[in-house]
Amino acid sequence: AATRGRARWNGVGTTSDGHRVKLLANIGSAADARAGIAADAEGSGLFRTEFCFLDAAAEPDVEAQRGAYAAVLEPFAGKPVVVRTLDAGADKPLPFLAIGEEPNPALGVRGLRVAFDRPDLLDRQLTAIAAAAAETGAEVSVMAPMIATAAEAAWFAERARAAGIERVGVMVETPAAALTADALLDAVDFVSIGTNDLAQYTFAADRMLGALAALNDPWQPALLRLIANLARAGLERGKPVGVCGEAAADPQLAGVLTGLGVTSLSMNPAALPAVGAALAERTLPDWQQAARSALAATDPAGARRAAGGR
Ligand code: PEP
Ligand code: MG
Repeated sequence: AATRGRARWNGVGTTSDGHRVKLLANIGSAADARAGIAADAEGSGLFRTEFCFLDAAAEPDVEAQRGAYAAVLEPFAGKPVVVRTLDAGADKPLPFLAIGEEPNPALGVRGLRVAFDRPDLLDRQLTAIAAAAAETGAEVSVMAPMIATAAEAAWFAERARAAGIERVGVMVETPAAALTADALLDAVDFVSIGTNDLAQYTFAADRMLGALAALNDPWQPALLRLIANLARAGLERGKPVGVCGEAAADPQLAGVLTGLGVTSLSMNPAALPAVGAALAERTLPDWQQAARSALAATDPAGARRAAGGR
């Protein structure tokens, strides 16, 4: 199947009846970006900017940030790239963003929350991203991590547009954001579902703990239901709903997500051929049927079985 699949992946994500789903690369460095292009990614659905600065002792100034972003964006000239603003805190501490001791870092001041006290930091990053976009010709949009309310999304969108960035979205990583999909999508142009964190917060199960991996299984029906609610809200508004967590890299699940109405899948570049091949094995109505069956299951194994198809 792998060989047949490889032959059928031609760099355009599509079901067997021609329904298009953008297949994108997750990137954090220029090397990742080149790997994404080599794997025929149609663009990037997640550029993790914090990866550029893991060793920086002080905040890089706008010029240094522009250079760092441009180096990653350059291979994607003419292609869409979703640049995520700094997602520091919890599992990704940044030395220059001293957040202080917190009893529960995953529930603390992380992601966009850092910017509420220090909006100047966000504004400098947005300015640098806009400059790097203009310089490289990548079709850049921005999104914010760790959103809990539509008001936070609106606050971010206003600052991003003020910096000259036209397409603005947010990540959906909290159950609160997923449950208020309608209001969230009214505040921004698109959303992208971070299934790694969305699973962690939905199941109250630390994503770093191997002992809880079964709860963080992306086939959990509860997670699929949150994704279904987001996809429905997006379809109603004609606004894109992507997935950029690990779930997108599971070939069978990628088809189920497509059946739920997700419009793009962003993943480790190495996963693109298998996902592209799996997607092309069934029609959209078949994937929709698989998605309904998975939603009705009571556990991850049942969801996998139910989506198994013919
Ligand atoms: C996620 O949470 O699913 C995600 C894509 O972001 P990160 O893994 O960087 O937290
Ligand atoms: Mg996340």
